[in-house]
Amino acid sequence: MKRILITGGAGFLGSHLSEKLLKEGNEVLCVDNFYTGSRKNIHNLLDHKNFELLRHDVTHPLFVEVDQIYNLACPASPIHYQFDPVQTTKTSVLGAINMLGLAKRLKIPILQASTSEVYGDPAVHPQPENYRGNVNPIGPRACYDEGKRCAETLFFDYYRQHQIDIKVIRIFNTYGPKMNPLDGRVVSNFIVQALKGENISIYGDGTQTRSFCYVDDLIDGMVKMMNSSQGFTGPVNIGNPREFTMLDLARKIIDLTGSESRIVFQELPEDDPLQRRPVIDLASEKLNWKPTIELTNGLVKTIEYFRDTLQAEKEIQTLA
Ligand code: NAD
Ligand code: UDP
Ligand code: UDP
Repeated sequence: MKRILITGGAGFLGSHLSEKLLKEGNEVLCVDNFYTGSRKNIHNLLDHKNFELLRHDVTHPLFVEVDQIYNLACPASPIHYQFDPVQTTKTSVLGAINMLGLAKRLKIPILQASTSEVYGDPAVHPQPENYRGNVNPIGPRACYDEGKRCAETLFFDYYRQHQIDIKVIRIFNTYGPKMNPLDGRVVSNFIVQALKGENISIYGDGTQTRSFCYVDDLIDGMVKMMNSSQGFTGPVNIGNPREFTMLDLARKIIDLTGSESRIVFQELPEDDPLQRRPVIDLASEKLNWKPTIELTNGLVKTIEYFRDTLQAEKEIQTLA
């Protein structure tokens, strides 16, 4: 049994990771300031004897005793990370420094949840780990992209300078139950719109692409990376290499929900990447990992989750 710290543990990915690590018999210390996460995501874990919740902002030092750190704290959707961009950079950079300081004092492994956004609007397609990216350092996405790039720099400098056992993964678009319905990401937006019979909002002409990974696959890759052989630092891409246009995605969701929603086209946000698809050969070779859940199957589970959530909300409104 290990004592495992998860920063951002009440978020979408953090809550799934907490659940998996508890199931494997570990103790989980979930640290979160509830900026985008919620108690609802972890309400089923609050009574678990091996689960502890600490409200804390990772931009401040944290002195605890644990055996491993998963550093996930950071708002991840464009509307949330752009709402307070200075705080976003602070969370990535100061959060990384504090968690690396903790890992250094305790001499323990630390995993960083980095992102495909370090490749920016990629000029190389698909993206292998040795591609250095195409990021606008002064645009509206920079607080997130450059914050995450600086965090990677810190991880590798702590590795070279202090021999910290670092594990860096670059996560590509991930979806599934417990996504925040209000965080504006494309999968949750389209599903909620389709279920409510509202217009499906495609930004731009819908020909931009993303590659969507179901959350269970992603968490499996993340844990495999943490437990990989010492000295394997990454960065390693974790994502599903099947690529879709946003038009494909909208049509698929309309089809799977049986919705009568119409597709409408809205303005494309500044610096929105045109294409994104991971090369996952490194994950396959070093971690023996590849995704197993097809988009259709993952969407069916996600739609079911949102249908239940919307239904529960409706019942509460009827009672009020
Ligand atoms: P999320 O917004 O659901 O979760 C982030 C969590 O971090 C939230 O619970 C939030 O309250 C917490 N947090 C934010 N700032 C904090 C701070 N200063 N101190 C403590 N807690 C703080 O997002 P997610 O999708 O679960 O993403 C988790 C991590 O994975 C993030 O680091 C994100 O950059 C990375 N990632 C996610 C995706 C994806 O598709 N979901 C893709 C690439 C990278
Ligand atoms: N830190 C922390 N918890 C610890 C140890 C360190 O939060 O258990 C923070 C501490 O605030 C410090 C940062 O991590 O500012 C970096 O630590 P490091 O030891 O690398 O640097 P230093 O203390 O020399 O500034
Ligand atoms: N997008 C869209 N409609 C929406 C939300 C997003 O067309 O309601 C587009 C967005 O412009 C981007 C893609 O979907 O091209 C993925 O957006 P998301 O915010 O989910 O992730 P990211 O851009 O960070 O990959």
